[in-house]
Amino acid sequence: MKGNFVYYNPTKLYFGPDSLNGLKEELKKYGPNLMLNYGGGSIKRNGIYDEVMAVIKETGKTVVENPGVMSNPTLAKLREGVDIARKHQIDLILAVGGGSVCDYSKAVAACAHYEGDYWDAFYLKQQNPPQSQQILPVACVLTMAGTGSEMNAGTVITDADTKLKVGHVYDERLLPQFSILNPNFTLTVPVEQMKAGIFDIMSHILEQYFSDDDDNTSDYLSEGLMHSLIVAARKAVKDPKDYEARSNIMWTATWALNGLINKGKKEDWEVHMIGHSVGAWTHAPHGYTLAAVSLAYYRKIMKFGLKKFVRFAENVWGISPQGKSDEQIANEGLDALKAWMQEIGLPLTLKDIGTTDDMLEGIARGTFLLDAGYHQLTHDELMEVLHESM
Ligand code: NAP
Ligand code: FE
Repeated sequence: MKGNFVYYNPTKLYFGPDSLNGLKEELKKYGPNLMLNYGGGSIKRNGIYDEVMAVIKETGKTVVENPGVMSNPTLAKLREGVDIARKHQIDLILAVGGGSVCDYSKAVAACAHYEGDYWDAFYLKQQNPPQSQQILPVACVLTMAGTGSEMNAGTVITDADTKLKVGHVYDERLLPQFSILNPNFTLTVPVEQMKAGIFDIMSHILEQYFSDDDDNTSDYLSEGLMHSLIVAARKAVKDPKDYEARSNIMWTATWALNGLINKGKKEDWEVHMIGHSVGAWTHAPHGYTLAAVSLAYYRKIMKFGLKKFVRFAENVWGISPQGKSDEQIANEGLDALKAWMQEIGLPLTLKDIGTTDDMLEGIARGTFLLDAGYHQLTHDELMEVLHESM
């Protein structure tokens, strides 16, 4: 394991069909004012709202509801939530929903006690809230698997006016206090969203896997998670009501992005950076934006990290190396990834998700080119990846 690192993740997880039983005792640990954030109404239709409210009622809390958190939550909605949290002196924010509601709740938690322009100070300047500032505690009842937001400190917000989707606030004080993961709650997720979540998980793993060449436990963990995801995704697409598959997808999602498999790694989040910008322009589901650019991106950087791409082909997809060049093996690995994506019905191009040629310059402008794993894209290379993804 290279370098020094700290592993810290205090989020308590309740997992399984009876996991909501943990909610009551957890809620008792916080003050009386509870902010309940949720999305566009799925939790009312599938009964999760009623189940959660019944528990909250038993605790006697004062509930302030904040519905309407949209997919890819916006800055305008964040401002509303911050006003509510301030006005009602909220003690705990409970997110009931997918990654969007969970991310949004963390954003409110980060900004509620900040006096200045939090969008500029935190998101645009890529800074965490000052240590002296109070951060509200957040908890999550997860209804959709994918982002890992239930056990990480991420909070992605989109400014619809400037078309900037930014996820750079990453503060350990935003790690949920507890999260409730009942795979049964995910059974009503529309199949398209389920698939998007599956690729989000895959992308999280790949973006941590594709960096460095040393022998690292993190890469073996990543390969194990990928094996589980590949199998479970095939089953879930055939039968979305398959509890076993859905439970494995949910657990894989959590471990794909909770600060474990990046240990000792440089990481390469470029696919997410491009995907975020695509999302700001197209409003396509987050996982679809990643699927649409991944193949072109990895084909572009493959030669700079050939050894790991060979390992990916052999260890994840079982490609036989017999009589082939490293480049051939690596390409066959990416072909296998593509075939799996096709098998589960993911979009493979930007056109598939509604991107038009006139958006590409704007998408490139909104892409944060971060310190990458094997190769830092230039602007021209980024444009090539976008064109090759069309
Ligand atoms: P989502 O936006 O939370 O949810 C997608 C859709 O699924 C919504 O329409 C939602 O409806 C619906 N839905 C959720 N649960 C459902 C259920 N049980 N039954 C029926 N419908 C359900 O999707 P997500 O992929 O989990 O979150 C995406 C956001 O997370 C993006 O903004 C992305 O950038 C961000 N993200 C964060 C991280 C991180 O590290 N924190 C990582 C990756 C991505 P309702 O609106 O009615 O709830
Ligand atoms: Fe993601």
